[in-house]
Amino acid sequence: ALDGAVDVLARGECRVALDPITAGKLARHLDRELKDDSATLVHVESGAGRHAHFEDDAYSAQPGVAVVAEDDIAAARAAADLVLCVRAPSEAQIAEFREGAVIVALMTPYQNPQLITTLATQGLTSLCMEFVPRISRAQSMDALSSQAAVAGYHAALLAANESSVFFPMLTTAAGTVRPARVIVVGAGVAGLQAIATAKRLGAQVWAYDIRAAAREQVESLGARMIDTGVDASGEGGYARELTDDERAQQAEALARHMSDAHVVISTAAIPGRPSPRIISREMVEGMQPGAVLVDLAAEGGGNCEMTRPGERVEHGGVTVLGPLDMASSLSVNASEMYAKNLFNLLTPFMKDGELVLDFEDAVLGPMRLTEGGRITHDDVRARAE
Ligand code: NAD
Repeated sequence: ALDGAVDVLARGECRVALDPITAGKLARHLDRELKDDSATLVHVESGAGRHAHFEDDAYSAQPGVAVVAEDDIAAARAAADLVLCVRAPSEAQIAEFREGAVIVALMTPYQNPQLITTLATQGLTSLCMEFVPRISRAQSMDALSSQAAVAGYHAALLAANESSVFFPMLTTAAGTVRPARVIVVGAGVAGLQAIATAKRLGAQVWAYDIRAAAREQVESLGARMIDTGVDASGEGGYARELTDDERAQQAEALARHMSDAHVVISTAAIPGRPSPRIISREMVEGMQPGAVLVDLAAEGGGNCEMTRPGERVEHGGVTVLGPLDMASSLSVNASEMYAKNLFNLLTPFMKDGELVLDFEDAVLGPMRLTEGGRITHDDVRARAE
């Protein structure tokens, strides 16, 4: 039977892989006859949920879930069949897990080639949550989407908080205030949530994306699309990289709109590659003083040339923010959504209390990084060698 669900806290990380309710649901799924005194199926490291405001008591109140005290954590890690994490475990933690255990996490495999090699050499089977394929069946398992929704919402609030103007139109005794003009670059999951949040606050919102298909979703939220004449829809719902001419055409149209915007929120990403550079220094210099740029793509290097990941840059009266871990700052909902993604992903492979992974499965197959002592993912192996 499965007897392990241990979260590993990464530095600065506030999320936890299982919230108490989902931990209980997982235990019940493993044993539908579960009574209060039956065997523990899900173990949660003491304090794992603390930064998401889930106390140990909330976990232990769930039948089938036990909190592992600090002294017993090494033994619990060594006994776990399945280990659920938010971020990839450290080298030291990897050494504690038993050969053949299954580790599931947001692995950032391209930034962590050494760690992936260690997962392989320790004989662990690892699943990368970033590699959930973008197919309809996998929507409820897609952690990149659930966490992007959190980050997009928060980016709009951060921008509103930093802005020197109101987002809504105000009619007051002291005169009428025009609504803020907001541009959202990249209308994927995060961008759409940023658009919806800025609209709810009353701003006028424009969006900009290279996929023509984004127009309908943008307009359904009451925002307008900046037309650049470039369509770069790629395979599987991802954007393809642009040619130099397309990039110049795109930049010119965007710069024109940015010159009178109060806020720009950029969210554009190409999975597995550095963030595309869309906003140049000149475009920032063309913005009006007091404007704010929130670059959600900072983790991948940023969409803006001026972005310094994790820092605030002031340039010519414009503030450029490159926040990291935006999903982590709404740790309660972000954890709950991530936990549901894990539950939806893994429970179809749990039968009679056993985890039996099928790598012929269209969702699980692309997610496998390591198994049986080797890096099984071709792309990741090529970069780790
Ligand atoms: P993403 O994080 O890969 O990129 C964010 C957005 O940036 C995308 O809309 C992309 O087109 C845009 N972008 C990339 N390069 C750009 C550039 N140079 N200039 C302007 N914009 C640029 O995307 P995402 O948020 O994960 O989602 C993209 C699409 O895939 C959406 O339509 C989403 O609904 C879909 N999706 C489907 C599933 C599923 O079916 N399971 C899962 C996730 C996403």
